[in-house]
Amino acid sequence: MKILRTVEELRQWSRTARAAGRSVGLVPTMGALHAGHASLMRAAAAQCAAVAVSVFVNPTQFGPNEDFAQYPRSFDADCALAERTGAEAVFAPPVEEIYPAGASTYVDVEGLSGRLDGASRPGHFRGVATVVTKLMIAAEADRAYFGQKDAAQVAVLRRMVKDLRLATEVVVCPIVREADGLALSSRNVYLSPAERTQALVLNRAVRTVEKLFAAGEREARVLIEAARAVFAAEPAARVDYIELVDWTTLEPVERAAAGSLFAVAAWVGTTRLIDNAVLL
Ligand code: AMP
Repeated sequence: MKILRTVEELRQWSRTARAAGRSVGLVPTMGALHAGHASLMRAAAAQCAAVAVSVFVNPTQFGPNEDFAQYPRSFDADCALAERTGAEAVFAPPVEEIYPAGASTYVDVEGLSGRLDGASRPGHFRGVATVVTKLMIAAEADRAYFGQKDAAQVAVLRRMVKDLRLATEVVVCPIVREADGLALSSRNVYLSPAERTQALVLNRAVRTVEKLFAAGEREARVLIEAARAVFAAEPAARVDYIELVDWTTLEPVERAAAGSLFAVAAWVGTTRLIDNAVLL
């Protein structure tokens, strides 16, 4: 496994691969890798000849009272998992490599960045868009892999790549879940055993809406109300948002259609969790 620490090393690694006729895949992560990340790395390895995984806990996407300092870090295990999934390089830069002293350039996807998670985490998507732009420019990848787990992030990044005419294709991979439905997240390690059970309410709400949609219900008001009722039965979880939106604009829809995004965020104890489904 090659460990790359500087933007220049990542760029050279990518250019060497491309010069040899190999396609390049990039999997941006914040580390603490789990089976959700592994699915992205496997998809990248299946579609690209050379894959780099970035492991970078990006300070600009955390709010001042969020968990940047405590965010789980497991670099050696991350490298081992990346190797097992067929990645060739891990890009793990120090913060000052991505944000050199005095850096004042940010990427802000206006409008979309204030929706869903962006509404409750001001500045979050500006941090995400900025770091992913920097990674895409450095990696010169043919494709970059993201999880539908962070569905609002996907919408922001698709728009960003389109607006900036970046040359990297955004590939979206399905949500990987535990057997009982909980979406895998690096933050699940924060949950106590009782909270781990309470956290299942997010997936129960999502599945309830999926079933109602499959049975023909299209009224957003009815679908959201049904999800609210599921949360009401689990008072330990505090709802942040329950939304039915167009997945491209993240604007609320009045009637659900195939391709609409149903998304929830909730606090379980001090841990904020998200889940969603694209209605089909
Ligand atoms: P993170 O390390 O949390 O920033 O996530 C890195 C990438 O992995 C993002 O594109 C996430 O959407 C994706 N990801 C995280 N959890 C999952 C999951 N349970 N299933 C699929 N992709 C995931």
